Amino acid sequence: MNVMGRKFRLIETILLNFIFLLFPVLTTVIFFENKVTNFNKYLIMLLSAVSLVLCMAFPIKLELGFIIDLRFIPFIIVALFGGYKMVFPLYIVLNSYRFFIGGEGIYHSLIFSTVIFILIPLLSSKFIQQKANTRILYAIGASIFTMTLYFFLLSFNYQTLTSEFWTLTFLTLAINIIVFFIIMSLIEKIIANMKTREMYLRSERLKDISDLSASIAHEIRNPLTVTSGFLQLLNDSKTISSSEKIYIEFSLKELKRAEKIVSDFLAFSKPQSETMVYSNFKKEVEYVENIMRPYAKMNQVDIQVSFTNSLKKRYDENQVQQCLINLFKNGIEAMKEKGGTLYVDVSEQKNAISIKIKDNGIGMTSEEMTQLGKPYYSTKKGGTGLGMLMVYSTIRNVKGEVNVESTVGKGTTFLISIPV
Ligand code: ADP
Ligand code: MG
Repeated sequence: MNVMGRKFRLIETILLNFIFLLFPVLTTVIFFENKVTNFNKYLIMLLSAVSLVLCMAFPIKLELGFIIDLRFIPFIIVALFGGYKMVFPLYIVLNSYRFFIGGEGIYHSLIFSTVIFILIPLLSSKFIQQKANTRILYAIGASIFTMTLYFFLLSFNYQTLTSEFWTLTFLTLAINIIVFFIIMSLIEKIIANMKTREMYLRSERLKDISDLSASIAHEIRNPLTVTSGFLQLLNDSKTISSSEKIYIEFSLKELKRAEKIVSDFLAFSKPQSETMVYSNFKKEVEYVENIMRPYAKMNQVDIQVSFTNSLKKRYDENQVQQCLINLFKNGIEAMKEKGGTLYVDVSEQKNAISIKIKDNGIGMTSEEMTQLGKPYYSTKKGGTGLGMLMVYSTIRNVKGEVNVESTVGKGTTFLISIPV
């Protein structure tokens, strides 16, 4: 083959390998983007295994017996996102297929992949917590590390490291990094899109409820006020008997209860001007801490508050109180089986107030987390499923953001960030 032909062939195989790597990514976008269930996770793992085998079956052959195959790209990505549990099957597939191909270097490959298998997933839990861009850097770092190790081991096969060796090393490294960068950027973009859609759906849901609740609550409130006014007048009348008075008192009491429910419902709607304040949340946190203490004690829960925020924000005091009550209450209820401590931390970031509410209760699965804030979603006996809805709606009113981290059996942390 002449030089041109070889170059052409090289580009062709690189593109082919690129397509193999795109295959699980594209399949995920097309079929599973709506929901990441456990089943889908295993499917993605399976697709990655297929992509890994294809990369090994059609490697990019260079001079000096150099072979670039991109098998470690799906391997590292799955290891970083999924940890040991997810990457273990890939490890088995990689080595089984390597044995199936045969030839020399089987044991080298086994040892090398074992080292990677042991080291890379160690980063996983840290990796998942990072922001998108940092994750891309992590992944590229992991790839550079892997390739460097690979060349280091490979260099023992050569007596002298010629300039050709170095050129090929550089070429391989460059191809790996570029492909890694593109694939990781795509994956991060998919994740960002999923999150945006989830947020959009949630805020649409809230918008309907808040529009409806305001109008309905106002409609009901007026007749309630009028009726209780007349009943009070009637109550003062001298011509009615004392037993009749009791009926009136009962009616008044029930009307009051109805009014209370209606005003609670109003909390879902737009902020009320009478209760707007410009403050740093200190009063509200203290108030809620005080009124929730007895309930916490009843459930063997201790509340610990740390408050270091001086930033101020305009907000509806009633709504914020109600929102905090709901979060405290959920945290306490999550720990009621075994007791525990509810940690509340209000602090200031660069341009935002950060409210952290952490419990070590029962926690939630990732599927349960996606249900949070749906009206009437509740796993509790007698639960209303309106608490979290109210939380999301209040935080939306102050243009804030709610993030949830939760592990089943370990606990839940709500992170609220409110820009000032
Ligand atoms: P309710 O408390 O009436 O069930 P919420 O809207 O307050 O309604 O909460 C909805 C559901 O979210 C709860 O039933 C529970 O399953 C889950 N949840 C909320 N907060 C927590 C938490 N801190 N720990 C575990 N699960 C929680
Ligand atoms: Mg609740």
